[in-house]
Amino acid sequence: MQEVKLASRSMEDLVAVIPADRIKRLVDVVAPKMRDQFNGDQIINVNSTASGGGVAEMLHVLLPLTLGVGIPTRWFVLDGEPEFFALTKRLHHRLHGNKGDDGELSTVEQGLMAGVVARNAKELLDQVHPGDVVILHDPQPAPFAAILRERGIPVVWRCHVGIDHDNEYTDQAWKFLRTFLEGNVDEYVFTRSSYAPDWVPPEKLRVIKPSIDPLAPKNQDLPAESVLGALQGAGVVSGDGFGSASFIRSDGSTAPFTMRAEIVESGPPPSPETPLIVQVSRWDPLKDMSGVMRGFVDHIAPETDAHLALVGPSNAAVKDDPEGQLVLDGIIETWRALPEDVRDRIHLVSLPMDDPEQNGALVNAIQRHAAVVVQKSLAEGFGLTVTEAMFKGRPVVASAVGGIVDQIDDQVSGVLVSDPRDLKAFGNAVVHVLKDREWADRLGRAARQRAIDVFLPDTSLDLWNDTVVSARMAGTAT
Ligand code: UDP
Repeated sequence: MQEVKLASRSMEDLVAVIPADRIKRLVDVVAPKMRDQFNGDQIINVNSTASGGGVAEMLHVLLPLTLGVGIPTRWFVLDGEPEFFALTKRLHHRLHGNKGDDGELSTVEQGLMAGVVARNAKELLDQVHPGDVVILHDPQPAPFAAILRERGIPVVWRCHVGIDHDNEYTDQAWKFLRTFLEGNVDEYVFTRSSYAPDWVPPEKLRVIKPSIDPLAPKNQDLPAESVLGALQGAGVVSGDGFGSASFIRSDGSTAPFTMRAEIVESGPPPSPETPLIVQVSRWDPLKDMSGVMRGFVDHIAPETDAHLALVGPSNAAVKDDPEGQLVLDGIIETWRALPEDVRDRIHLVSLPMDDPEQNGALVNAIQRHAAVVVQKSLAEGFGLTVTEAMFKGRPVVASAVGGIVDQIDDQVSGVLVSDPRDLKAFGNAVVHVLKDREWADRLGRAARQRAIDVFLPDTSLDLWNDTVVSARMAGTAT
């Protein structure tokens, strides 16, 4: 088990972006109530990775804020071996309605999962005291629920994934997880209520949408020279070096951009003016990076002079996602087989994760530089990359799946493609946005406003507080 170091963050820091009346309510009403209710007890979060992917991203947003409010907040990442992460990736796929690999979800796999968690348990239990609440994120730490329950520690289970309509694969995954969760969890939190299986008692079901940190390196304002310098230095755009490009770290210090991307390409886009279509995702089949590439080759490249950048984390880094390298290798193989003229316009970019803040800042620069951001996922729990691009005022073309439909109001704050496998519809939507720049600007402006109105962290802090307080009440009642 590793503990992730958290720096505390004050809500007042966000006043440059979040309207003052919203900050005032948090500071004057929500924060004192939380301090009163917790009175020194801890909120402990457990998940399976500190970087790469939406869960880690969301925890980096919310936890510094609860710490800043004065609640002792901690974050632990559990250790597991490759078989464990292969199993939890299978669960992830099946919760999204996909088969994933051919493996089973039987009592043998339940034993594997329980064994890994039991090995992590002592380290966690040493840190948990009566009065604390533990929030378990996603399937990986689910077996902790029973262990904590036995010791009278209230448990919240936060599930970040799911689909609206169950099928045989979701049924298998839920049957598997039910054994660990039912009767051991005090509050369940989902991104959409339709994601919850029917055995979750309605009175224990909460819906909380993720949010983004507007000042994090991933989302903070970056001057145009820093965007260009960061991208030229990283090798994403042609040109010389980093220049004086810099970003602000979470501790307030200014840091120069120094990160080079690992890029598979014939050469960078010819000029900074070349329109760039960007998808930022983990290398996961459900993100359908290869479908984006096919859609680009067949329907976008012939109509425009745009280039495509598929951007993901360097695979060595995301330890709970064992499929990443296979997916990237498959994409590279397809890319190599493309005709030269179109291959020259596709860039496969992996970003190192050894400095997660700079990785975030580089994602920021890439999203800001994009002429259009796409998210052609086949399934999506929420889709933070969409929120991030909307906050930056970028026009977004995305699949109408999962939480993406809660974010984009179609044709107003972005474009939704109803069938994520319809490459022609996807390609046409991107071409339309690229050709009608006035419309694209309008979509971008509406997107930014929507992200500010709905997806900044003040909107979820008191929902989280109500959830952990209810879990505590339920926990002590049993
Ligand atoms: N991300 C990142 N670096 C990368 C690729 C992705 O920081 O190289 C981040 C991305 O900006 C977003 C998160 O990973 O914040 C992905 O979250 P999302 O909800 O889109 O998808 P998930 O990975 O949780 O399925």
